[in-house]
Amino acid sequence: MSSIVLFGPPGAGKGTQAARIMEATGLPQVSTGDMLRAAVNANTLTGIEAKGYMDAGKLVPDEVIINLIKDRILEDDAVNGVMFDGFPRTIPQAEALSQITAVSHVIAIEVPDSKIVDRICGRYSCGGCGLVYHDTFNPVAASGCDCGNWQEKRRADDNAATVQSRLDTYHLQTSPLAQWYKEKGILHSIDGDRAIDQITGDILVALE
Ligand code: AMP
Repeated sequence: MSSIVLFGPPGAGKGTQAARIMEATGLPQVSTGDMLRAAVNANTLTGIEAKGYMDAGKLVPDEVIINLIKDRILEDDAVNGVMFDGFPRTIPQAEALSQITAVSHVIAIEVPDSKIVDRICGRYSCGGCGLVYHDTFNPVAASGCDCGNWQEKRRADDNAATVQSRLDTYHLQTSPLAQWYKEKGILHSIDGDRAIDQITGDILVALE
């Protein structure tokens, strides 16, 4: 069993690409951001602890995240590996992950900071199926999402006030992981500042 890591700044398109790679590979998407938002909505202890960090655009402590992943990887659908989206985000998380499961590919989706604010501030998703849309770059059809259960959802942290803090956090704590994985020979850098289909195509080639 081996897993894939989708890596990149907030707003790089990890979630959008994850849905497509999931379809192509059958690997389930494991998004720590989605897991934390579910915990916040359910008002669990983890959610209560995580909320302050998330609202401030800071990282939730490694220990909380690593425990979430340790539990998630034991679920039946993870037996052939998973696709991590938004995890790991620190070197200690990556070190812990290497003890939990094998990672065969790290896909780094690269987008310049100057594009990130516009991408994040217009972002929304379908509450029915999770597909990600954007006011300008990828709007939902007038009839709603193809899944047939269209509900518009916007994230509390997708706003101009939080985005700079999330980017600073990314550069300080997460981006060093690219070099860490490069040294392991499994990093594949993809230009994420292009059409969604082109990016998917390049990711699937890298995964071959
Ligand atoms: P995301 O949906 O991946 O953009 O994550 C939203 C927020 O959840 C982040 O800004 C962090 O506060 C928190 N978060 C998600 N994944 C992690 C992680 N691997 N480590 C620490 N915090 C995380």
